[in-house]
Amino acid sequence: MNEYIQSLKNQNKLNLSTDLSSVYQWPYTKIAGPCSVEGPSIIEISKEIKKCGANAFRAGAYKPCTFPIIEEKNGWKEGLKEEGLELLKEAKAQSGLPIVTEVMDIRKIEEIDCVADVFQVGTRNFQNYSLLDELGRHNKPVLLKRGTWATLDEILGAAERILVGGNKNIAICLRGVVGMPSYRHIFPSIRWAPDLMMILALKQFTNIPIIYDPSHSCGNRDFVPGISKAAKALGCDGLIIEAHPDPNSSISDPDQAIDYKTLKMIFDD
Ligand code: PEP
Ligand code: MN
Repeated sequence: MNEYIQSLKNQNKLNLSTDLSSVYQWPYTKIAGPCSVEGPSIIEISKEIKKCGANAFRAGAYKPCTFPIIEEKNGWKEGLKEEGLELLKEAKAQSGLPIVTEVMDIRKIEEIDCVADVFQVGTRNFQNYSLLDELGRHNKPVLLKRGTWATLDEILGAAERILVGGNKNIAICLRGVVGMPSYRHIFPSIRWAPDLMMILALKQFTNIPIIYDPSHSCGNRDFVPGISKAAKALGCDGLIIEAHPDPNSSISDPDQAIDYKTLKMIFDD
């Protein structure tokens, strides 16, 4: 056991003192929405997602693309950006749901702050320390998505980075890790391996809420209900799920998006 983990074991857990119930709805947080803000349809979608039982709405206005040249061909260029944020404002006004949306860059924090109730830190920025330090100086809740490579102590270290800045409003999001699942050649959209055991492992060292993301973990919608059920059974504090009115037509992450009916079934469970 390394020194850091030993110190948490000996003293006490990495603790949060703040009650997050204003945004993260206890006892169980249900966040859902499409991967990205695709256009004005987001307003209607937010109301439908609420009807499915969600208590927060997710959608990215700033979207990191793994393959920017290919993905920019559709003219969408890593999200609708400012226009996307404006649409999210309207979605929030009409649905009444708090908004979870990604911040990739410290220069955009103020702008995103105007609509976001939760700053989502994406996997690719999980150890972007200037971003984490800056979010630590804010008081707004942060959803810190695990880097696909990150070890248990690195997850806690990144969370601590935000905590030491003074911001206690954080949740850790597990979203699948690097691996080469033996079923990948049969289900090509699968990119990551579900990291369910990390729910149990983290709970030994921290009371920071753990939100599980079955969508990126699975990469294929057929597995989302089962992995959601498993994550809940293992004691995660909430789920964040990608859902879309016409999943196959999603601009980003179409293979993992689920329809409203499936979402409602998962949230009702
Ligand atoms: C997302 O939530 O849409 C996303 C891009 O997730 P991640 O950062 O986990 O890949
Ligand atoms: Mn996505």
